[in-house]
Amino acid sequence: MSILSVKNLEKKFGDLTVLKDISFDINDGEIISIIGSSGSGKSTLLRCMNQLETITSGTITIDGKTLVETKNGTPVYAGKDVLKEILMETGFVFQNFNLFPHYSVLRNVMEAPVCVAGVSKKQAEEKAMELLKKLGLETKADAYPCELSGGQSQRVSIARALALEPKILFFDEPTSALDPELTGEVLKVIKSLTDLHITMVIVTHEMAFAKEISDRIIFMDKGVIIEDASPDEVFSSNNERTREFLGKYH
Ligand code: ADP
Ligand code: MG
Repeated sequence: MSILSVKNLEKKFGDLTVLKDISFDINDGEIISIIGSSGSGKSTLLRCMNQLETITSGTITIDGKTLVETKNGTPVYAGKDVLKEILMETGFVFQNFNLFPHYSVLRNVMEAPVCVAGVSKKQAEEKAMELLKKLGLETKADAYPCELSGGQSQRVSIARALALEPKILFFDEPTSALDPELTGEVLKVIKSLTDLHITMVIVTHEMAFAKEISDRIIFMDKGVIIEDASPDEVFSSNNERTREFLGKYH
């Protein structure tokens, strides 16, 4: 069953079209990596999924709920209630962690369940501690973000994204801000999430990781999807742009 469906998505910034006729479907539980050069539109695409960016035209459907559709050439967004439902079903992990600096690790993870979902503090704390334990951070519950390494910070932001038990997790270059040794630590944690059977959409430059973890890889170039296929197919593609891009990683 399709959990995320994007049809004919177009995004312009002024005269600049950064996403052109993007269409794809992701099935429940699939792990998708999105690869492509800097500036190809990967972050913009992800940001359209939670309305951090508005679209120019197209349709986005998440778990059967229409986030946005285009009527008479104008994008029409879901109402507040549906929007909230969609936002609660989606988690985001960004390159730069985006933790609340003045909250403890535990409070960072509890914040959305308590303040957005109306979960009791006690229940949210139990769930948060369970997640911190799963991500190897149980001793850091009372620490503040400034006391953490980059790898620990990113693991907290993953715990935070998991706290609302999302159906889809989006990662935008989760390891790009990290040293190589910390990158491995975070990739390992992302891999460990596969047993939760959450749909994951991961923008990454870690090609070996993408190849290993993904059911499918989407390769974007200049706002267009060039490949949407299995890792084996993408890595053995004869497309000139795909080969040129992957060639940079050897
Ligand atoms: P990627 O994540 O693949 O590196 P982005 O989605 O960040 O690519 O950017 C795609 C294109 O959109 C780039 O040309 C970038 O300069 C442009 N862009 C991104 N955000 C904005 C914005 N807020 N205003 C104008 N142009 C933008
Ligand atoms: Mg980006």
